[in-house]
Parts: sequence; structure tokens; C-alpha cells
Amino acid sequence: MLGHSLSSMGRALMVAVIAGGTIAASASPALAGDAVEVTASRLYVRDGGSTGFQRMAITSRGRIHPVLRRSGGWVLIQFDQRLGWSSGQYLRNRDVSIGVISAGALNVRSGPSTRYRLVGRLTQGQRVAVLGSSGAWYRITFGDGEAWVHGDYVGNGGTSTPPPQPRPQPQPTGVVHTVTASALNMRTGPSTSNAVIRRLMRGNQVSVTRTSGGWSEVVHQGRSGWVSSRYLVRGTQLPPRSSGGLINLPASGAGFTTYQSSYRRWGSPTMIYGLQRIGRRWAQERTRPRMQVGDISKEGGGQFPPHASHRYGTDADVRPARSNGTEGPVSIGQSYYSRNLTKRLIDLFYDELPITLMLFNDSSIPRRQYASGHHNHFHARIRR
Ligand SMILES: [Zn+2]
Repeated sequence: MLGHSLSSMGRALMVAVIAGGTIAASASPALAGDAVEVTASRLYVRDGGSTGFQRMAITSRGRIHPVLRRSGGWVLIQFDQRLGWSSGQYLRNRDVSIGVISAGALNVRSGPSTRYRLVGRLTQGQRVAVLGSSGAWYRITFGDGEAWVHGDYVGNGGTSTPPPQPRPQPQPTGVVHTVTASALNMRTGPSTSNAVIRRLMRGNQVSVTRTSGGWSEVVHQGRSGWVSSRYLVRGTQLPPRSSGGLINLPASGAGFTTYQSSYRRWGSPTMIYGLQRIGRRWAQERTRPRMQVGDISKEGGGQFPPHASHRYGTDADVRPARSNGTEGPVSIGQSYYSRNLTKRLIDLFYDELPITLMLFNDSSIPRRQYASGHHNHFHARIRR
């Protein structure tokens, strides 16, 4: 539709030149649409319409968002310049007009004339909640507050305009991926509420035909279904293993970061994939601080001074969490040590890993034992 967008941009430019921004727009724009206001203090915006989908952002009480679609109690909203799903439970309908940006790129300003400061840009097809107008300018919700755009470039989108697709992604038709989980459920749809139709095994190869949120539609031996994208790696190879069968923990990922060099972060697949699952669960609960992982083992395993253990990829050192949202070292005696967050993190370790030993010196945390030196990190050992 290149021709269409060129001609509408040309028209918009011509209007701007002729009218110079002095058009007398009607006091309340007659625009079609639907909007919601956030009623919760903080509300997750997700990749898809269920809590199983990854969180992409957080909106907050009082913010108004244009609505693109509603489905099963979930609402697809415009969130700044992105689209995402939020639970309708924490949204109430707002009677405001919705405009659709018709210019290729539209300046957003702090006031109703070009003399005001530029605060951002919107692009063609994006939606805005219009709160009012002044002359030819519309007052819109933008970020945490309000801003202004010229009304000539805001239309009603037309009733036949199909709603934009959520987070359009390149179609990875047929790209081969390999299963990393020891067992992976393939389901009829992209959520854990869909029925399991097949169980895939580590090393199975599948082709991915499309993705939605954290899910991939795959074809495996003639059958198609959906699996969690977490347990797929692109290509035909599993991550390289060292001679001891260990794999390397990346420097950072969802919900975690590391504070030791790469050569010190080799672990058994159970340990590494478990740490990554813990990170993802941790990230669903908070953005900062992330889990901070230190020494695991060396590439081939073996002696790892100054540690007595850390020889098999089945031991990991992890920092306690700070209470002030920052990351870095902290000891249990310090004021910004968070017992609650650290206890939650250790609980996740017990949930996700076959823990056989937990060394840590905060005696108020259950399921751990004292060991000299473990006041500024806990040491988790899993079954070999
Ligand atoms: Zn250790």
C-alpha cells in the first residue's frame, strides 16, 4: 500500500502548507473508538491475553489507553508506541475519542502550537486517546501525562480499517529449532490451558511456522501444535557442551545477570536451564534487582580454587537480593539486604532445581545451612 501512504502523506503536507495550522477544527473531534482507564496501581502489559504470556511493560493507575481488541476478559491496548494485552479486570471503560494517526510521522508537543517543545513522535496507524482540543490541536494522553498533536493528522481510521496486528513479527516459516527441555508438551494452542497432543524430547527438531507471545507453532513429524518458545533453540544443534557435558550460562538473560567471567559459568544442563527458568519466574515478579549468579564451574569441570566444590557444574553461587532495587554485593548484616526477596529467590531454587544442599548464613531462612563465608552469597548444589 505504498501508493496509498504516499498520497495521504502528500495530502497531509499540502494541508499543512495551505492552512499553516490555523484551521478551525470543531471543538470536539468526531472520532470513533474505545478507550480504557487503568484502575490498579500497577498493571502488567503482556505479549498475549493470558498470564502465561511474557510481561512487556507496566502501566499505572489513571492512564488512559486506546483499545484495539477485546478477547476473553483481556484487552489489547495501545501502550505508548506498542501494543499489548492487559487484564480487563483492572480496566474501566472511558468515554473519550480515539484518533488514528494518518501522517507518516507526527510530532507530539507539550502545547497546542509548533512553538511548544517536541516531546515525541507517533507514526501512521497508531492510536491516541483525544481528551480535548484547542484550535486545530488535539490534547492526547501520552506517556505518563498529556501532550498535543495537530488535528490534521489525526483521523477516525474508518470503520472498515482492520485492527493492527499485535506485535507483528517476521514469519519464521520453517526455521528449524531444537528442543532443549527433557520433555516438552506440544499443545493445540498457545497457552497451557490447551490440550497436550504430543510430548517432544530433548534434541527433537521442529520447524517453527509462527510465534505468538511466548509460544511457537511448530511442526514435528507431520503434526503441528504449539510449544513454549523457552525450550527451543534456533538451529539443529543444542548449545555446545564441554568435554564434561557442561553448558555455559550467558552473561545475562530474562531476570538474571552474572558477576563472574564466562569461563567460570559452566554448568550441567539441569543447572543452566534451571537457572534460566528461575530468572524468568523472577522477572515475572519484578524487574529489579535481577538474580545475580556468580561461580558455577570451569568448562571441563574439575578443581576450581579457591572453591573446594564447584567441580561438576552442579554448584552455583548467587548473591542475596538488595532491598533498594539496586544490584551488587550485599551481606546479610547490611541494612539494604532484603531477607524477603532472598527467601523468595531461594524458594524458586527449590521449585525449579533438585536442590541437595543450600549454604547460606541468614538463620531466619528455612532449608539452608550455615557455612563459613556464605554471608554474601548462597551456594546451591543440585543432584549430580
Ligand atoms: Zn559456592
